[in-house]
Amino acid sequence: LKPISKIASRVQASTTLVIDSMFKDMKANGIDVVGFGAGEPDFPTPEHIKQAGILAIENNKTKYTPASGLLELKKAACYRMREDYGLEYRPEQIVVASGAKHVVFLSLMVLCDPGDEVVIAAPYWVSYSEMVQQAGAIPVIVAAGQDQHFKITADQLEAAITPKTKAFMLNSPSNPTGMVYTKEELQAIADVCIKHNLYVIADDIYSNLVYDDLEYCSIASLGEEINRRCIVINGVSKSYAMTGWRIGYAAASPEIARAMSNYVSHSTSAPSTISQYAAIEALNGPQEDIEYMRKAFQARRDHLVERMNKIEGVSCIKPQGAFYVMMDMHSFIGKEMYGQKINDDNDFAKLFLEKGLVATVPCTAFAAPGFIRWSYATSMQEIDKGLDRLEEFIKNA
Ligand code: PLP
Repeated sequence: LKPISKIASRVQASTTLVIDSMFKDMKANGIDVVGFGAGEPDFPTPEHIKQAGILAIENNKTKYTPASGLLELKKAACYRMREDYGLEYRPEQIVVASGAKHVVFLSLMVLCDPGDEVVIAAPYWVSYSEMVQQAGAIPVIVAAGQDQHFKITADQLEAAITPKTKAFMLNSPSNPTGMVYTKEELQAIADVCIKHNLYVIADDIYSNLVYDDLEYCSIASLGEEINRRCIVINGVSKSYAMTGWRIGYAAASPEIARAMSNYVSHSTSAPSTISQYAAIEALNGPQEDIEYMRKAFQARRDHLVERMNKIEGVSCIKPQGAFYVMMDMHSFIGKEMYGQKINDDNDFAKLFLEKGLVATVPCTAFAAPGFIRWSYATSMQEIDKGLDRLEEFIKNA
C-alpha cells in the first residue's frame, strides 16, 4: 500500500493519552484511582439547558441547519459577547461549529498556507501545535517560565516573528497554566500583531472562569485595528458544563467567517441541531448556574493551592482562571523514587499513577517540562483524597 499522507503521519498521538488509558484500565479493573486529568466540569449540564435540548427533539428540530449554525444561536453569541466582554459582532461574523476545538482547527485551515508560521504562546494546550501542522503550517513555540507567571511578553513575541509568520495563538485564561493576561499585557501584544500584520487566534474558551474579581479582557476589545485581525473563539463546553454537546463558535471578519463556513459545509455540514438549541438557551437564559460553578471552582482552587504548597518537594503558583494548577516537581528530577530514576515529569506522573493511584497530566507535552497539571474540575473530597495520596507517595518514596 502507498503510505498515508505526510501531514497525517506527522500528527502525534497525545502523550497524555498514555496516562489516561492507564487510568481507565486501572479503574476498569476495580482499582480505586483518583483522576485529575479531565479538562471538563464535573457538574451536570444545567436543567433548563437540558430541557431546551429535549424540547428541540420533541418539536422535531432534528434536521440540518445552515453550515455555520442557526441565526438565533449566532445572535445569542453576539449578545453574550457584547454583555460579557464589550465585543460588538454581527451574526454574519459568527461561525458555530462542533466544539471550540473544531473552531480552532477551522481558523487555522482558513488562515494558513503550507510553510506559514504560527506563533504559539507556551505553555500551551497540546492540540494547538498538532492543529497548526495539520493545516500544513509550522508551529513556532515561544515559552514563558513560572518566573514570568507562564505569560510571554510582547518582546518575546516580536523576537519570534519572521516574514513567514501568519498568526499568533493566545489562550487566556490558559489551559494548562490558569494564568490570565492583563489588559496592559494584551495591549502590548496587540501592538506587535498590528505592527507585523498578524492574525490573532484568541481562544477565550475559559473567559467566564476567572477568579478573585479579576477583570477579564479580550484582546479583540482593544480597538478596531486589532479586532479585525482577531478570530475570537468561545463556546459552551466549559462555562455551561456542556462538553458533550459539542458547540463552539468563532467571531471574525465576515470574509474569514464565510471561509470557515465553506469548510464546515464540505466536512461536517453543520453542528448538531439539537445541541444548537440547547446552546441558545445556555447563552440567552439565566446565568446563575455559571456563577455557582465559578464560585465552586474558586473555592476548590484555593484549597488545592494552599494544601499543595504545604507538601514537601512540590509547589505551585496560584492560577487566576480556568480549572488547572501547574505543580512544580523539579526537585524530584534526577532522584530515585520507588527504585526508579525520575528523569522528567512523564516519569513522575506515571509513577504517581502506579504507586500513588492518582492520575495527573505531565506538562512536557504542553512545552512545560518539570510540571504536572492537576485539573480541579472535581469535588473537594476527591481533591483532598488526591493530596493525601500525594503526601503519602512522596513520604514513602
Ligand atoms: N481550547 C482550550 C484551551 C481547551 O482547553 C479546550 C478543551 O479542553 C478547548 C479549546 C476545546 O473545547 P471544546 O470542548 O468546546 O471543543
